[in-house]
Amino acid sequence: MGPELISDDDFAGMYAPTMGRPSVPPSLMMRALLLATRDKSSDRESSRRSRVDLDWKMALGLPADHPGIGATTISLFRARVVLHDADQALFRKTVRKACDAGLFPRKVLGLIDSSPVLGAGAVCDTYELLRRAIAQVVRSVGEDALSKALWRALKRYLNDTKPDIDWGNPGVRRAELRRMVEASRRLLAAVADRPEAARAAAMLGAIVDQDVEIDPETGEPRIRRGVAAERIVSVTDPEMRHGRKSASRRFDGHKLHLIEEESTEIVLAVDVGPGNGSDGDHAAPLVEQAREAGVRVDEVVGDMAYGDGDTRAEVEAVGAKVVAKVPPTHNSGYFAKTEFTIDPDAPSATCPAGVTATRTRRRRDDKGRATVFLMFDENVCAACPLRPRCVKGRGGRTIAINVHEARLVEARAQAERPAVKRKLRRRAVIERKIDHLQDLGAKKARYRGRRKTKLQAFLAATVANLTRLDLLGAFQTGEVAFAAS
Ligand code: SF4
Repeated sequence: MGPELISDDDFAGMYAPTMGRPSVPPSLMMRALLLATRDKSSDRESSRRSRVDLDWKMALGLPADHPGIGATTISLFRARVVLHDADQALFRKTVRKACDAGLFPRKVLGLIDSSPVLGAGAVCDTYELLRRAIAQVVRSVGEDALSKALWRALKRYLNDTKPDIDWGNPGVRRAELRRMVEASRRLLAAVADRPEAARAAAMLGAIVDQDVEIDPETGEPRIRRGVAAERIVSVTDPEMRHGRKSASRRFDGHKLHLIEEESTEIVLAVDVGPGNGSDGDHAAPLVEQAREAGVRVDEVVGDMAYGDGDTRAEVEAVGAKVVAKVPPTHNSGYFAKTEFTIDPDAPSATCPAGVTATRTRRRRDDKGRATVFLMFDENVCAACPLRPRCVKGRGGRTIAINVHEARLVEARAQAERPAVKRKLRRRAVIERKIDHLQDLGAKKARYRGRRKTKLQAFLAATVANLTRLDLLGAFQTGEVAFAAS
């Protein structure tokens, strides 16, 4: 790849001007990172290949007798890239290259989707999370900072394994949990004014709060029923979350989000969010990211995860439009809201029995926003033969007018049009890109922490784009030797 896309000047901000030149040029290091992504090689293997593999040497522009790049040098460069967001800058250049080559149509249709990224940290149960978090706090302050009595209480948690108890006995497990929670609270109190322990203590406190509750019958600590929304699942990577790609597919880690241009299959924007995050929340930031790279996306086509009113409004605010089915509304077997004819401007709603309600009341929705509710007359509903299929409790039926109701009514109508149905069918093309990115390492995090996982995603998207640019003839012959090899 020529200096047009990667040059040492791009990385000038990563090095202090007074410290001289880095021993290995940063443009060469970035090429090595891209090769490592393409070949899924570890730092040690990348170092070996840069020393002995002639394909690598040619792609890196090194002479055959070059001694290669050290594994530590690669690791340090990666840390520097993360610190200075140099991965994002290079990815953006690949998108600009596609723009400059005139590859995108006048109206850009973006396909949007997400995919799970398994985290690199070890996922633990509550006992192991507490044990490891206790050990981290103790390590951060050292044994001498703790009283002898507290040290004796904590010692059993500082080995490499769980305490040696009868884990099959529920009573013994409960007693151990009580001991761990008490020891954790004493430890947190002891290090409260120690700044060096602040981070580890915050994690220990969060784990106690998220995983333990007081049993109302016994007054003793017990494992919390249900899962806390932001539950930490790994001490070694506290940013990992329990995620769900579908009702049956669960995972622990992060989520990759991307937009690709439909006709060229060039990735326009990529991000990594929490495993439990909403897909819709990433739509507008991805559209903005694409615009920063020089592409104005007109429409984004996605699945129902992007079809809610908030996502549509956010994407419209950054100049694009969402094409996605509106998520269905359910009402526990009773008439769903979609079975009513709603006029959000009037406002009015006509029910399946043909009765129209115009009487309103204002309440707050689940996000605290003022929302209009249409109230059907309770006497009319009481006499209605359809009541058993419509009203759960006493009184008349109520219908909430979503703050985005007009937008949703229009989207439901649009989704029935043949042209929109054709666009929605094109959405499946992005699955191929996700497969490619996963093949380039975006399926499983190699490093702990979301930012480094994001680096992996940007590198994978950069390699994928270089491959497409090469196939689409955007480069001079030989300019991207490694992309297609
Ligand atoms: S119960 Fe009330 S709202 Fe429901 S169908 Fe009958 S009249 Fe309409």
